Amino acid sequence: MREFEYVAPKTVKEALSLLATYKEKATILAGGTDVVVRLRDEIIDPEFIIDIKHIDELNGIKFDKKEGLFVGANATMHEIQNDKNVKEFYPFYAEACGHVGSKQVRNKATSVGNLCTASPLGDSLTPMYCLDATVVIEGPKGKREVPVREFITFVRKTVLERDELVLGVKFPYVECKGIYTKNARRHEVDLSNIVATILKIGDEYRIAYGSVAPTPIRLVKTEEFLKGKKIDDKVIEEAKKILATEISPISDLRATKEYRVSVSQSILENSLKALG
Ligand SMILES: Cc1cc2nc3c(=O)[nH]c(=O)nc-3n(C[C@H](O)[C@H](O)[C@H](O)COP(=O)(O)OP(=O)(O)OC[C@H]3O[C@@H](n4cnc5c(N)ncnc54)[C@H](O)[C@@H]3O)c2cc1C
Repeated sequence: MREFEYVAPKTVKEALSLLATYKEKATILAGGTDVVVRLRDEIIDPEFIIDIKHIDELNGIKFDKKEGLFVGANATMHEIQNDKNVKEFYPFYAEACGHVGSKQVRNKATSVGNLCTASPLGDSLTPMYCLDATVVIEGPKGKREVPVREFITFVRKTVLERDELVLGVKFPYVECKGIYTKNARRHEVDLSNIVATILKIGDEYRIAYGSVAPTPIRLVKTEEFLKGKKIDDKVIEEAKKILATEISPISDLRATKEYRVSVSQSILENSLKALG
């Protein structure tokens, strides 16, 4: 591993100034659970590591019913999983964060880091997709907000510029019932074969899947078909057929394409039956 300079700014302003100076030579470090692995494996080779963990402005989780939920960039999976408001109003997001890695990983890893890594199987992402969350970004030109569905553009690619920092993620407050499902080979410390969140809001459904395409996706055709329908066996069978046309999983070390399609359909069936 090449030597790098470690810098630990105390304010967002200071971090932005460092990013503006070092640009592509710098890598932002939050919990480090992706960055350190990628450094060790020499996938990345930065000259500067900018550790944002000491920036208090990026801490915390805020909620009220009017503004919704704001998850700061430094909020860890453990903090989100155990936050009183997340557990009450976004239980599927609490569960998602509780399924990342192990307890040790969750004590360091952030949900914003999970988002910025832009893996199609990021465990905390499908709740963001279902709720049409917004990514709050700051850069040299000021703040901007990007809908989460536009933030990740491909595997490990986002719209973030090299001199920008994600401040946090905003979730609207919506009265809904939701189910989060992770399918993996082991109960802990395993990446998802399939991950999904399905919400029922009034007589509509929001359906987001991970590990079925280069980015997490919303299954908009399946959602449209289910809108206003009473759930019975015939509707479920039709919905499963539509789902299969919307996903394009690959075969890899963890699962085959066929297995992923079949599991995705089972998750849909189980969730629809549970949500009614
Ligand atoms: C043993 C182990 C098990 C794991 N299991 C899982 C799992 O089950 N499910 C899962 O989804 N993931 C898993 N992961 C991956 C990892 O824990 C997550 O992706 C984690 O959420 C990343 O967050 P972090 O704070 O550690 O990010 P970091 O590693 O610090 O950063 C990740 C990326 O995001 C960028 N970044 C971070 N914060 C910001 C910001 N505020 N603004 C701009 N860019 C930023 C960094 O530059 C880097 O590119 C596992 C990792 C390990 C080591």
